Amino acid sequence: MQLLKEKIEQEGKVLSEKVLKVDTFLNHQIDPKLMVEIGKEFARLFREEKITKVVTIESSGIAPAVMTALKLEVPVVFARKHQSLTLTENLYRSKVYSFTKQVSSEIAVSGDFVTADDHVLLIDDFLANGQAMLGLMDIVEQAGATIGGVGIVIEKGFQDGGAVIRDKGVRVESLAIIDNMSPNHITFQ
Ligand code: 5GP
Repeated sequence: MQLLKEKIEQEGKVLSEKVLKVDTFLNHQIDPKLMVEIGKEFARLFREEKITKVVTIESSGIAPAVMTALKLEVPVVFARKHQSLTLTENLYRSKVYSFTKQVSSEIAVSGDFVTADDHVLLIDDFLANGQAMLGLMDIVEQAGATIGGVGIVIEKGFQDGGAVIRDKGVRVESLAIIDNMSPNHITFQ
């Protein structure tokens, strides 16, 4: 997606050879117009899949997921990373090792919102080693739902998450795939 690549080139900061900071438009401040375009593009790519629900993980997946769900006219559910007093029963849980925080934590989704009738589109902001996406896939499988595809805003193609998920036979569509990056240059696939 050209608009997204330009935004990454203009505003992305390469913190190390593996970590990209995009908090001017995706991870802290959010660019709503760009999110609308991202939502349109995911909806276009997965329109034929008969998606019934978009599922993501808090917090940075929520903005692109909501815009996608709006276009597909389905609800969006986000996996919660923090325990909640109001979210205690009928939960599907999975362990996820966080690439950016370097700790394992549990994510949870209520069985009220993802069921065996659902055909799910999974959305996330980044794909690195695939741990977050594997956790979401685990939860969808526990619920007996099916996976219609995975939509990623920024895939780092030099890490193995893309191969791990695609090798499972799941369709992965990434709007920008970074081949390699250094503080003054980002190369896209
Ligand atoms: P994975 O689980 O695929 O290793 O990493 C994906 C998750 O880690 C995403 O949900 C995202 O929040 C975070 N992440 C991975 N790589 C980056 C990165 O380069 N920059 C930022 N801002 N987040 C990342």
